[in-house]
Amino acid sequence: MLELEKFDEYLDELSDVIKKYQRNISTGRVVPETSRQDMEKLLFETLPMEGSDAKNIINEFKEKVIPNSTKIGSSRFLSWIITSPSQAGILGEIANVGISQAPFNFKAGPAATVIEEMVIGWMGELFGYKKESGGILVSGGSVSTLTALGAAREAFLPGSTETGIQNISNPLTLYTSKKAHSSIDKAVGVLGFGKNMLRKVGVDEFFKIDIDSLEKEIENDIKQGLRPFCIIAQAGTSLCGAVDDIDSISDIAKKYGMWLHVDGAYGGGAILSKKGKEILKGIEKADSISVDPHKWFFVPTEAGCVLVKDKRHLYNAYSTGVAEFDENAPINYLDYGIQSTRTSRAIKTWFAIKTYGIKKLSQVVDFNIEITNYFANEIEKIDGVRLLHKPQTSAVCFSFEKEATMNQAFLIEVEEEFFLSPANLMGENCVRACFSNYRTSKEEVNLLLCKIRSFAKNNLKI
Ligand SMILES: *Cc1c(COP(=O)(O)O)cnc(C)c1O
Repeated sequence: MLELEKFDEYLDELSDVIKKYQRNISTGRVVPETSRQDMEKLLFETLPMEGSDAKNIINEFKEKVIPNSTKIGSSRFLSWIITSPSQAGILGEIANVGISQAPFNFKAGPAATVIEEMVIGWMGELFGYKKESGGILVSGGSVSTLTALGAAREAFLPGSTETGIQNISNPLTLYTSKKAHSSIDKAVGVLGFGKNMLRKVGVDEFFKIDIDSLEKEIENDIKQGLRPFCIIAQAGTSLCGAVDDIDSISDIAKKYGMWLHVDGAYGGGAILSKKGKEILKGIEKADSISVDPHKWFFVPTEAGCVLVKDKRHLYNAYSTGVAEFDENAPINYLDYGIQSTRTSRAIKTWFAIKTYGIKKLSQVVDFNIEITNYFANEIEKIDGVRLLHKPQTSAVCFSFEKEATMNQAFLIEVEEEFFLSPANLMGENCVRACFSNYRTSKEEVNLLLCKIRSFAKNNLKI
C-alpha cells in the first residue's frame, strides 16, 4: 500500500535537486537570513490525515527546506567542528538509505555487518591498535564516549553492569581537562558516576591538561578513600583543538591502574596527517578511543566510531546473551553497543574511504592544518587583533582588542560571506574559525584575513 507508482521518477527528481544543491554549495550566504518565527510560519502545519503526491513534497523541499538550510559544505563555513560532508560520503549515504539495512545482527545486514567489521579494523589500524581490538559505529562522539565509558566501568568493576554502582563503598572518580566537551559530563551523568565525580583538571598555556595537577588530584582522591578509575584525554578540544600529552597521561593511567579513554571525536582525524600523528603520540596505548568519521574524515552525519583496544570489554558490557566472550565468535553488533535497530554507518564510511583512499584524505587534513597555521600567523600580524593560542589542529580563536562587543559585531558583518562562530575561551569572548573543510582554499582564507584587517582598521580609528 505504500509503494509509490512513480517512485523512479521521484528518485530522479530528488537526485536532480541534490545535484543542483551540490553544484552551488559555495555560492551565496552560508546561513540563511531567517528567524525561528519565519520558519514556524513557513513550515508548521497540522498533522496530515490525508496524503498528497510525493511530487508536492519534493517541491516543498525545494522551495521551503533547501533555501532555509545552512550550507555546511560551503567553502566559507568555518564554524564549530562540523566538516563539509564529502561527495563520496554523500553517495555512500544515499546508497545506504536505498537499501536500509539494520545490522544489529548478521542476518539483518550481512554485507553491512562485515563492512562494519572491516571499517572498524581500518580505523583501529590507523591508530595502531592490534588484532584484539574492536569497536562499533555509532551516531557520533557523544555516544562513542558513553559506549566506551560503559565498557570501562564493566572492565574496572566486573559485574557492575549487572549489579549497578549504587552500593559500592569507594566511589569512582574520573579525570579530564577543563576544556573537555560537554558530552563527557553527559556520559558520566548517564552512567551513574555522578558529574561531581568528574574532576576537571586545569590546563597549561596550550590548553592541554596539566600533567602535575592531574596526578595531584588523583593522589588527593586516593587519600580521601575514593577510587580513581578513568582518565579521559583530549585529542583536539572542540574549542581550540588542543591535544593533551597522551603519552604522559598513559603513564599515569598505568601507574594507578586506570582506564584511559581518548576523546578524539574531532582531533582523532589528525591521525591522517604526519604532523597530526606526532601530536597524537601514544594514542595506541589508550584503552579506548572516540573518533568521528563525520568530523575529520568528512563522512556525512551521523558517523561516530568507538574503538576499544580489547573488544571483549565492549562485549562484556553490552552482550545480550549468556555466552562468555569468545574471540572467535562472529560479531553481532547488538552485543557490542547500546542500539539494537541501527542504520549502517559503515557503508558510507567504506564508500568514502575507498573512493578517496587514505592518501587523499591525508592531503586534505594536512592542508587544513597548513592553512590554519597560516591564518594564525597572519592574525598575529594584524594591529588590534589578538591570537589567543597557537593552533595545534584546525581551530583558531582570536579576539578584536578594546571591546568584546567588537567580536560580535564582526561576526554579524562577516556573515554575508563567511560563517564563523563566537566562542568563550577561559572566560574571554572571542571569534573562532575552524578550517576543517575540504573546499576552503587559501584564496578564501586571504579574503577572510582582508575582512578582519579592514574591520580592525575601521574600528580602531573610532
Ligand atoms: C564533536 C565533539 C564531541 C561530540 O561528538 P558528536 O559527534 O557531536 O556527538 C565530543 N568531543 C569532542 C572533542 C568533539 O569535538
